[in-house]
Amino acid sequence: MIKTLRLGIMGGTFDPVHYGHLVTAEEALVQFDLDRVVFMPTGRPVRKTHRSVSSAEDRYLMTVIATASNPDFEVSRLEIDRPGDTYTVDTLRQLRDSYGPSTELFFITGADAIREILTWKGAEELAGLTTFIAATRPGYEADPLTDAMPPGVTAPRVEPMAVPALAISSSGIRARVADRRPVRYLLPEAVSAYIVKNGLYARDGDR
Ligand code: NAP
Repeated sequence: MIKTLRLGIMGGTFDPVHYGHLVTAEEALVQFDLDRVVFMPTGRPVRKTHRSVSSAEDRYLMTVIATASNPDFEVSRLEIDRPGDTYTVDTLRQLRDSYGPSTELFFITGADAIREILTWKGAEELAGLTTFIAATRPGYEADPLTDAMPPGVTAPRVEPMAVPALAISSSGIRARVADRRPVRYLLPEAVSAYIVKNGLYARDGDR
């Protein structure tokens, strides 16, 4: 009998990647008995018009640096190399086509993003493509999606997963770098060295 591959897809902007993300991926690996987790930095995020996002290449490289020592983690260029705005449904379709039916996909991301999935492009298709793992801060209840679905459409399966380390946030780290406050112990040192070397998140006069 062919063993089903259980593949975690860790979707995020990762601007920058931090220990909250790494703990989330490791926790999902164990809790959901995944074979490996593929980090998928978003190419061109569709909903981030209110602020400038670091280049896809910087976010990809920081994610590679952060995950390099873990044999169960990989980083994909799929979304970064696909032209146009990034939609999760396109990624999941592509992965489903290349891995085939013997692979089960688990899309891991923040609960705040997952709460919006009914408004994502191709929402009605998502249930057939993946199980969502919604990373939450402890004490936060993930909303059930079932009631919000139009009649005849199956709600995607959403599994909540509490992650204490998610008190760390990318926006908090960006603000700390801009204010020249310490970020040590919030993200891998090699990632913070990359941020300094490339002048990411610094105020204009500090570059
Ligand atoms: P976001 O709105 O920036 O993030 C929402 C919250 O989730 C933030 O607190 C964020 O913290 C956290 N988060 C994000 N990714 C996470 C992860 N992998 N693990 C744990 N926490 C995470 O979300 P986003 O980064 O733009 O999008 C998340 C994913 O949803 C991406 O893969 C994106 O492509 C997808 N998405 C798809 C559509 C669509 O298809 N229409 C629309 C929106 C998002 P940090 O800031 O610290 O990461």
